[in-house]
Amino acid sequence: MGVANRQCRLCNQFKVLRNSHLFPKSCLRFDDKGRLIVTRAVRDGTSTYTLKQDGFKEYLLCEGCEQILNRYEAPFNEFWKSKNGLGNTATAGQVMTFAVDYLKTKLLLLSILWRHAVSNVWGRRIRLGPYQERLRDICYNGEVLLPEEYPMFARVLVDDEGEVLHGMTIGPVRYKLDHISGYQLVFAGCEWTVLLSVSAHDLPGELRQMPKALATVGVLHADVISFRESRLAWECAKVLPRAEYRKRL
Ligand SMILES: [Zn+2]
Repeated sequence: MGVANRQCRLCNQFKVLRNSHLFPKSCLRFDDKGRLIVTRAVRDGTSTYTLKQDGFKEYLLCEGCEQILNRYEAPFNEFWKSKNGLGNTATAGQVMTFAVDYLKTKLLLLSILWRHAVSNVWGRRIRLGPYQERLRDICYNGEVLLPEEYPMFARVLVDDEGEVLHGMTIGPVRYKLDHISGYQLVFAGCEWTVLLSVSAHDLPGELRQMPKALATVGVLHADVISFRESRLAWECAKVLPRAEYRKRL
């Protein structure tokens, strides 16, 4: 099923477009308590939340380009979903280390950010400026990226009982630290931060270590935190109606 003769946002050719997920389906998951929350950007505690069983979708990509992005999702799906590499419980304060595919993890994160930026569903709230075309290029060509290019890191989110919040999907939401812009997203049990920076020199001192959070040898280091320490997760929890809040968090 698709719509014919529309311009694919990734290859720019006119083709039949598929109804593409903005968050890949592999990133959506019900957790052990049957919780799945997919929400639009949460800002200042005023945004509404949305419960979506299948996530947000839009006609964005042709079949060939879906396949390109699927290649970035495959190892992620395998580790985070099929094998449940993160597990279901963790202790706040602990640091977890995962073996991941460095480049495909990076390309997946950037492709999710780019998909949201070109989507109308999100009302153009995500403005990547000159990075939008650059990210299209990177995702289309599967470019090799240095650790300091678009550094990203993850924090594992747990609820008060130490259950990993696999069922929460939020964002992307604009993020700024000093003069560096970026976006934060929540999915696959983690809060992910992606910075729109291409050089370690751009990063303020305390962030110089950040590129090492996702190392080229295929290692991801992630702090475990309570969802209350994550601005995104906490804002989302606050806007859920009380009954939903109790049931879901
Ligand atoms: Zn295409």
